[in-house]
Amino acid sequence: MYICLHCGKEIKQFEENFIRCPYCGYRVLSKARSNIPREVKTD
Ligand SMILES: [Zn+2]
Repeated sequence: MYICLHCGKEIKQFEENFIRCPYCGYRVLSKARSNIPREVKTD
């Protein structure tokens, strides 16, 4: 599974050699692991 770094949506399936976010078209994806780091805190 991948996560789009632009819109943050999870992408479970994608065509080979065409890794791109189907929602926004962004090409930068991050491999999603079991633990998704969410340490973003705002006071
Ligand atoms: Zn996206």
